[in-house]
Amino acid sequence: MTRRQFLLEESRLPRAWYNINADMPVPPQPVLHPKTLEPVTPDFLSVLFPMALIMQEVSTERYIEIPEPVREIYRLWRPTPLIRATRLEKALDTPAHIYFKYEGVSPVGSHKPNTAVAQAFYNKEAGTRAMCTETGAGQWGSAMAMACNFFGLDLEIFMVKVSYHQKPYRRVIMDNFGATVYASPTDRTHAGRAVLAENPESPGSLGIAISEAVETAAVSGGAKKYALGSVLGHVLMHQTVIGLEALEQMEMAGEYPDIVIGCAGGGSSFAGLAYPFVRENLTNGKKTKIIAVEPASCPSMTRGKYTFDYGDTAASAPVMKMYTLGHTFIPPSIHAGGLRYHGMSASVSALVDHGDVEARAVPQLATFAAAVEFSKAEGILPAPESAHAVRVAIDEALECKKSGQKKVIVFNLSGHGHFDMMAYDAYHRGQLQDHDYPQAQVDEAMTHLPKVSL
Ligand SMILES: *Cc1c(COP(=O)(O)O)cnc(C)c1O
Repeated sequence: MTRRQFLLEESRLPRAWYNINADMPVPPQPVLHPKTLEPVTPDFLSVLFPMALIMQEVSTERYIEIPEPVREIYRLWRPTPLIRATRLEKALDTPAHIYFKYEGVSPVGSHKPNTAVAQAFYNKEAGTRAMCTETGAGQWGSAMAMACNFFGLDLEIFMVKVSYHQKPYRRVIMDNFGATVYASPTDRTHAGRAVLAENPESPGSLGIAISEAVETAAVSGGAKKYALGSVLGHVLMHQTVIGLEALEQMEMAGEYPDIVIGCAGGGSSFAGLAYPFVRENLTNGKKTKIIAVEPASCPSMTRGKYTFDYGDTAASAPVMKMYTLGHTFIPPSIHAGGLRYHGMSASVSALVDHGDVEARAVPQLATFAAAVEFSKAEGILPAPESAHAVRVAIDEALECKKSGQKKVIVFNLSGHGHFDMMAYDAYHRGQLQDHDYPQAQVDEAMTHLPKVSL
């Protein structure tokens, strides 16, 4: 009988996060002030974040200890299982061994609480009483709502309007934890009012919602701090518990991955699984192929430019060097699979640019087809975001079938899709179609980049 589940004891929960800054093969690029375009000072960032998180952002310590109160909450669902997808292997008739790390077992159904809990903890420690953030489909908002609830912090959430109306159940989770949720764009901020003045029917976007949340913190005179669910270095680092556990679990399985795959919106779940394996490539002579997967309709890494751009639509968030489709990017409305951010985290971008990580874009219909195929074999219906990783895992396994190679594939099943039924319904009804982001729109957006003279 082939073993399916590789479970770690609670006591094996990692004691430290892995900080890839220590091993990056290229020097970090400065983070710039959105107005002056000069390197930001900790002062500027401290309006938004507590100092402990700012220090993590620039730290080059290889390991940063996970505070005990954070580990105590992690233990509500961690360590998460690593599962060998034996039934999928059989369905594909592939010699490949396919494993997935399942983050959908967290209370809110995704990897996002791994950093939400840490961010709430450091804010609590710093004396923060209230926080604000944005959310797209609601995964991040529900993770923050849970985390702020645990640490007794107030929370305001700017939720992208189209999701606010299409995905009411995640909003109810946030309500349940005591958070206040607004449909963004709102008339509560300059950024929101500016968008509404131009288009009162604006469906909102992640970039706009970020602008609203950042502004809310910035004008609060220190009363409110901001939390971001992806993209920043400390967020990616908090997610490395995923890969650190997976390394141990692969050891239990007696195999080492030839291929590691994750979907990438801002890059946090991808980095969470992949960076400990990237570490092994960079420092230990391993040669695992590391693949970050994005939608063909929001193709920042495969079609965007590696350059300095603003983190948000209103150009009020820091400027970073990253793969970007331009901060004015608004994802096509036909796109149902999440991963809509215009940019990509700086470290993932640098690793893609340097050739340590391969970026791949997959079309929407094939992505949903892969998710349905996976669920029919393994029972779990993936989040549409995670389905991008499932697509590439299946593609790689089918390559193995052709070549007869028995590769070991590990992918991150970053969440379940139980609150994404509208997207699956649209897929099953034939209402989705493939959409390649038009080159003319990429070119146009590039004319709005900040003029950085570095
Ligand atoms: C938010 C989310 C993502 C995308 O964000 P990253 O920071 O790129 O991981 C992926 N999967 C799930 C389930 C999510 O909720």
